[in-house]
Amino acid sequence: MSACCSNKSVTCDTQKRLRIAIQKSGRLTDDTEKLFKNCGIKINESRDHLLAHAENLPIDILRVRDDDIPGLVMDHVVDWGIVGQNVLEETTMQREVDGLPVAYKEVMKLNYGDCRLSVAVPNEMEYKSLKDLEGFKIATTYPFLLKRKLKEMGVSFKSVLLTGSVEVAPRAGLADAICDLVCTGATLHANGLKEVDVIYESKAVLIGRDQELFPEKQAIADLIIPRLKGVMAARESKYIMMNAPRNKLPEIKAILPGAENPSIIELEGSPDRVALHVVSREKLFWETMESLKALGATSILVVPIEKMLD
Ligand code: ATP
Ligand code: ZN
Repeated sequence: MSACCSNKSVTCDTQKRLRIAIQKSGRLTDDTEKLFKNCGIKINESRDHLLAHAENLPIDILRVRDDDIPGLVMDHVVDWGIVGQNVLEETTMQREVDGLPVAYKEVMKLNYGDCRLSVAVPNEMEYKSLKDLEGFKIATTYPFLLKRKLKEMGVSFKSVLLTGSVEVAPRAGLADAICDLVCTGATLHANGLKEVDVIYESKAVLIGRDQELFPEKQAIADLIIPRLKGVMAARESKYIMMNAPRNKLPEIKAILPGAENPSIIELEGSPDRVALHVVSREKLFWETMESLKALGATSILVVPIEKMLD
């Protein structure tokens, strides 16, 4: 048994178990663990364990800081990793400068971890475009992404590298502006800053090492990829049910967003009305439900879907 096994009942075989690096604790952790759970990957060990073994599948989970994930994939320490595209691109550019391997493949984009990397300046500053940042000192955790964008615009600047509390830099006199991740903008607002330009939009992504996997691992990947896709498709889909006048079916079908062909079910004792069941791949807004009601639909139910396999 290799040294990485803490659980003696599990064989830790680096050729047979798919090893996935995820963020130990942070903004991607809950959504990643939920995704794995919905894919039927059972991980019961606590977050304090660096390496957790899935109970029911040959999968090992390595819990690390998000900044380490691209390198672990690129150095072939793990097979897959889940990370924000912002960290992936920044690390890739840093590793290129350091002469380290940067090859990886994108397995799939995930539907969480959305954020934007934005430039923010003090509220009182007049700002028209990125060109106003010429000669500025800009505090950021993402100097490479910022430099790539400002170089495109022909703007020269000096970056001040901060790995946390970037938003306090202007008030502390460390920088004239910042470039940081933003979700709602509340943190910027609380620090007297305004968001003036988005330089990069990011979401979480599943990446894999560039080489072929051992056949045993590839078989696990082939099992898990459709499950991941199924869970994500389910999250965006709804199951819609209603009773509707038979003669209004064409109009009703026309307003259902992103819907497949509905199942039409006879209603015992009501020849003019039918039950309609359909999976919709998009959100159903109140306005659409009200339009359905106006067409004579009743008992309109919108139900979340847990899993889907096409
Ligand atoms: P670690 O301790 O793992 O280094 P961290 O502090 O660098 O964590 P988090 O703040 O947990 O990182 O963010 C992880 C990733 O989550 C970000 O790199 C980004 O891709 C994504 N993210 C999603 N929403 C936000 C947000 N509102 N602010 C910051 N990052 C976000
Ligand atoms: Zn980090």
